[in-house]
Amino acid sequence: MDISQKRRTLLKVIVLGDSGVGKTSLMNQYVYKKFSQQYKATIGADFVTKELLIDDKLITLQIWDTAGQERFHSLGPAFYRGADCCVLVYDVNIHKSFDRLNNWHDEFLQQADLDNAETFPFVLLGNKVDLDGGSSRRVTEQKAREWCASRGNIPYFETSAKEGYNVDEAFLCVAKISLDNE
Ligand code: GDP
Ligand code: MG
Repeated sequence: MDISQKRRTLLKVIVLGDSGVGKTSLMNQYVYKKFSQQYKATIGADFVTKELLIDDKLITLQIWDTAGQERFHSLGPAFYRGADCCVLVYDVNIHKSFDRLNNWHDEFLQQADLDNAETFPFVLLGNKVDLDGGSSRRVTEQKAREWCASRGNIPYFETSAKEGYNVDEAFLCVAKISLDNE
């Protein structure tokens, strides 16, 4: 069958986390296979898209970035509306970014106006695992997994947007659990 004849499913994915943890870099790595050392607060677009095939289903992941507004800790309901999955990101080298996950998780649940708040899919990414060969790390994998368990078994991936480590795997999981939740 021609791919264009397959049923398309559009999934809206929101990426949240403190400024500087690597949200934009993870998206660029996933969609464009590119990484930039330069710090850019904005991406210039509201979202990027990536198409993938899962079990013969054509999926369009629409991944929404914050244009630096995460500094103000509030993005507004329009940003969250219709989300199918929320990806939370922290930097394993910055403890504060891990501590702030509770706020991002709560903020999302409050703003997104969901009918299925108890079962809504989240995925956690611990990014920048490449830094200093791991010697600058401040949050252990175990701590992160404990947090995920306390929030209802959120899947967890350790990633490097710089090296592309675990990025495809993480977003494949995002797509799969979003589909399961449909
Ligand atoms: P955002 O504010 O969450 O969107 O973060 P950015 O994607 O703009 O990244 C902030 C800075 O961290 C930039 O200088 C990136 O180059 C850098 N960065 C992002 N991800 C990684 C990573 O996995 N490893 C390393 N070493 N640096 C990263
Ligand atoms: Mg950004």
